[in-house]
Amino acid sequence: MEEKYDVVVIGGGSTGAAVARDCAMRGLKTLLLEKEDFAYGTTGRCSGLLHGGPRYLLTEPEIVEASCKESGVIQRIASSLVFRVPFLLLVFKGDKYGIDLLDAYFREYDRYSRARGGRPHTVLGRREVLEANPLVSREVEGAIGFDEFGVDVFRLTLLTALSAEKHGAKLMTHCEVVDIGSSRVRFYDKVRGRLLEARFEVAVNAAGPWAPQVAKLAGARVELRLTRGTHLIYPRQLFTTAIAMQAIDGREVMLIPHQSSMLLGTTDEDHYASPDEAYPTRDEVMYLLQAAYRAVPALREVKPVRAMAGVRPLLPEWGKREEDVTRGFRVIDHEELGEASLISVVGGKMVLHRLMAEEATDLICRKLGTREKCRTHLEAIDGELSWRAEPTPRSESYCCECERVLASGVKEAVREHARTLVDVRRRTRIGMGLCQGVSCSYKAALTLAGELKLSPREALRQLRELLEERWRGRWPIAEVSSHELTELAHGVYSCLAALEVYA
Ligand SMILES: Cc1cc2nc3c(=O)[nH]c(=O)nc-3n(C[C@H](O)[C@H](O)[C@H](O)COP(=O)(O)OP(=O)(O)OC[C@H]3O[C@@H](n4cnc5c(N)ncnc54)[C@H](O)[C@@H]3O)c2cc1C
Repeated sequence: MEEKYDVVVIGGGSTGAAVARDCAMRGLKTLLLEKEDFAYGTTGRCSGLLHGGPRYLLTEPEIVEASCKESGVIQRIASSLVFRVPFLLLVFKGDKYGIDLLDAYFREYDRYSRARGGRPHTVLGRREVLEANPLVSREVEGAIGFDEFGVDVFRLTLLTALSAEKHGAKLMTHCEVVDIGSSRVRFYDKVRGRLLEARFEVAVNAAGPWAPQVAKLAGARVELRLTRGTHLIYPRQLFTTAIAMQAIDGREVMLIPHQSSMLLGTTDEDHYASPDEAYPTRDEVMYLLQAAYRAVPALREVKPVRAMAGVRPLLPEWGKREEDVTRGFRVIDHEELGEASLISVVGGKMVLHRLMAEEATDLICRKLGTREKCRTHLEAIDGELSWRAEPTPRSESYCCECERVLASGVKEAVREHARTLVDVRRRTRIGMGLCQGVSCSYKAALTLAGELKLSPREALRQLRELLEERWRGRWPIAEVSSHELTELAHGVYSCLAALEVYA
């Protein structure tokens, strides 16, 4: 029999997971439905910075203030997932802003930074910059030194969802909502191949860039301005400081140490296709590399392993360049507009996800007549990182050498709602290192097959899915990436195992 919930949350990105957590913590019977996996969407493709975003200071100081405060909150409730990222903002001759102007600008940013435990900025001369990072171009004139915080977005979203579960929420991944009535939602469980229904008092559309499509299922309307952002990924950290630099059009792009890798990004281009069809273009790749080579010429010798693109679900604004569009958010009550009991939470940034959820849940509570107050900023969400441990001599060896993941990590991922091999990747980082899954994916597939009792055919299908997903990230950079890796992958999987995934 279909179950009745107070709240059905649609979307398991940072926003949806946080709404489910807040609702569950306030005692509401909550169901979270995600069409793929936690952090499958924009959340899993972002830069992972809990930043105030100094560049929004002139236009949206209230967003900078809220972001800095929320960065402080996330550092408290998810401390094991957060890391400090020292930045050098490089200045070259001919750049849009000189050192003096940036110094004045960052004096203002320092005031906001205190809320997130950021240190005051420093001004560095040419010699100091080259001492701090000898790989920076000798043409550099100086830099601003400041810091931001980074976070593992996959674990942040997963642990937020698991915290919701601990407080009584039901989590269902690979379940795509296909119809929303006034009190009933229908969804398709893609793994089991079943169409299911649940009843609700309030439905929350937290579908990020898919929010317009989800609203349409209820006969409601949400408008967004979608912009695509591309990153290139280097398989190791070349240096420990992040570098911010100007691209040829004066936009800021960054090289950010992230986990065991380094991200180069990002672009900001209007995107009109489905968010499921966001692929990096050759122009975006070249644009990013052009900026990076100017700032760090040694990067020419280092090959990125993949590129990825995500779509920002921004509020619609006309007459503005993509990067100037507001990063503010809105909680829309469609009931006021005569639609079903539907709320949409749209816009914003990953760093604001908890705050967005708090505002949405306040509205839900008002609708349901509940007086419980928000406590999501008070309780920690992070647990042990048990999947990444040192193997003792008597225990098992690594399943993934690049990311140091044990076979037990794959089993742990299953307990954390992984239903496919790609889900395991998001939880453990298998396949995200230098070999891009060549040496670990078949081992992980075997362990997963054992845990989920998969048929050999299904295990092979999932192996192919993971390799295809990794390959899709490699072809946009084929021109500038390592051919050895592609040849090896092709040799192992296409020639030896007859898996045609690299066509
Ligand atoms: C390149 C790039 C870099 C960024 N960098 C940063 C950064 O450093 N810091 C920062 O704060 N912000 C950053 N952002 C912005 C940030 O990533 C997003 O604002 C945020 O992650 C959006 O989260 P969300 O949960 O709203 O959407 P998503 O993460 O997209 O989640 C929506 C979910 O809904 C699911 N869904 C869709 N339709 C259905 C359906 N019918 N049924 C069930 N589920 C459905 C999707 O599968 C998806 O998982 C960046 C964005 C981009 C693109």
